Amino acid sequence: MNEKILVVEDEKDIARMIEYNLKKEGYRPSLVHDGSYAALTAAKEKPALVLLDLMLPGLDGLEVCRRLKADAKTSSIPIIMLTAKGEESDKVLGLGLGADDYVTKPFSVKELLARVQAVLRRSAERPAPAPEKLKAGAIELDAAKVEVRLKGAPLELTSKEFELLKALMACGERVLKREELLKKAWGLDAALEVETRTVDVHVGTLRRKLGREGRRIVTVKNYGYRFEAGK
Ligand code: CA
Repeated sequence: MNEKILVVEDEKDIARMIEYNLKKEGYRPSLVHDGSYAALTAAKEKPALVLLDLMLPGLDGLEVCRRLKADAKTSSIPIIMLTAKGEESDKVLGLGLGADDYVTKPFSVKELLARVQAVLRRSAERPAPAPEKLKAGAIELDAAKVEVRLKGAPLELTSKEFELLKALMACGERVLKREELLKKAWGLDAALEVETRTVDVHVGTLRRKLGREGRRIVTVKNYGYRFEAGK
């Protein structure tokens, strides 16, 4: 509750109706009537959700959606598109612009609030994106550059070793099961075919390459591994 919601809607009475009902439910709505201000306002206010009308003056809803998803500051904000009947809502979602849901006008307040609640709940359950740069002792991992440095010097790792190290470092001190590591480094489908022992083999070579820092990868017997970042 109390989440900030940005409403981008040029039809003033619809916008006010949405605002009134969101407030009544305890949300904090703010209104924008023009597409060209929507992306800027979202970047500034960082709302928990954007309700985005499709047909807007300035920039249309699709373009606003594209911009929100392209900007790292706003890309994780969920979007519900408001579409008029006959605007082929399925196509709107199918465009792969990253909208989370849509509501077709005319909609009931109850329906809109149910969608808002569902999307907010889903987005709260989504794990936060892993940080791009991770550091522990002499190990520095840059996820964006796919690069690991040991004592400042580049370290050659296979892609699996890199993904394993990233998964372990990103998890803090939490123990990761072998199955989890398989999913993260080999992908969901491969996890069914690759034996969990494979993880042990790769962790072994990763440890050797990390030298003294390899001791940070701690074996948790009959379970998996965890990464010791401290010291
Ligand atoms: Ca409109």
